[in-house]
Amino acid sequence: MNRRVALLGYPVEHSLSPAMQNAAFSHYGLDWQYSLLPTPEAQFGAQIERCKEAKYAGWNITVPHKARMVRYLDEQRAEVRATGACNTVCVEGDRLIGFNTDQAGFLFGLDEAGGIEAGSRAIVLGAGGAARAVAWALAQAGHSVLLLARNGEQAAFLSQTLRASSGCTIQHCSLDTATLAKALPGASLLVNCTPAGMWPHTEESPLPEETLLPAHLLVYDLIYRPRPTCLLRQAASVGCRTQDGLSMLVNQGAASFEVWTGLPAPRAVMLAALEVVGSR
Ligand code: NAP
Repeated sequence: MNRRVALLGYPVEHSLSPAMQNAAFSHYGLDWQYSLLPTPEAQFGAQIERCKEAKYAGWNITVPHKARMVRYLDEQRAEVRATGACNTVCVEGDRLIGFNTDQAGFLFGLDEAGGIEAGSRAIVLGAGGAARAVAWALAQAGHSVLLLARNGEQAAFLSQTLRASSGCTIQHCSLDTATLAKALPGASLLVNCTPAGMWPHTEESPLPEETLLPAHLLVYDLIYRPRPTCLLRQAASVGCRTQDGLSMLVNQGAASFEVWTGLPAPRAVMLAALEVVGSR
């Protein structure tokens, strides 16, 4: 049966998701199609109605609509309630069920990199949408989280919001040399949830220049272009384990595929499709 799914966001033209999801549908011989629906803010409500009328099986939501989508949902999964953000919708009859697969995608990537011990200390850089998903995922997994952002008020707001919505205790501080020097030796994981280092600013790092990374650290950068980033090159040069953002990208997409189809996602096929389009 022909089914449609899509990505709603603005802009979305750069997205690698159609290549990844359509490769997964082809793998199973499914007559499904994933397309891009560029949706400016003013058209968001009308677009949701159109997708419902056209009997879409579901859709992904990206910037700037992940929080906006929540108010249209009939049911929110726990991770949506806790983070106030939805990136995957599944349509069941007339009902819209909201998921957020960013957390699962992130944790999958962490495992792929060898993981960290239970109850470890994790430092999360940034206080935007990705930091919110990552901090919550780590806290839920039983780790203690320190959120560092260049805007201390933003970090305080995020840690308070997560505490209120999910009971997670997440510490916060400003992202500076002194804080890092104190926190890094006792941490097992450093996650970059800022865009610092993303193409075309490939020589940028989210860390102050004088930061010393201890070799026992796993450094995880959510950026997937370039691979590796300046931060990951710096980490590898002192012997740290590293993980880049491609794994999270494929694994959040894989989790969305499983929500819509109920089938195990063909992760290797999806990764191969991403690597082909990403290298163009
Ligand atoms: P966002 O909501 O715009 O938040 C970005 C955060 O980073 C803000 O707290 C911002 O602080 C801070 N920041 C920006 N530039 C910085 C710099 N040079 N130094 C220190 N802090 C800086 O963005 P997001 O949605 O969280 O995404 C963050 C990154 O994660 C992006 O590169 C995105 O591509 C990546 N990402 C990857 C995946 C994946 O699947 N691999 C998924 C989600 C996101 P200010 O408010 O002070 O600017």
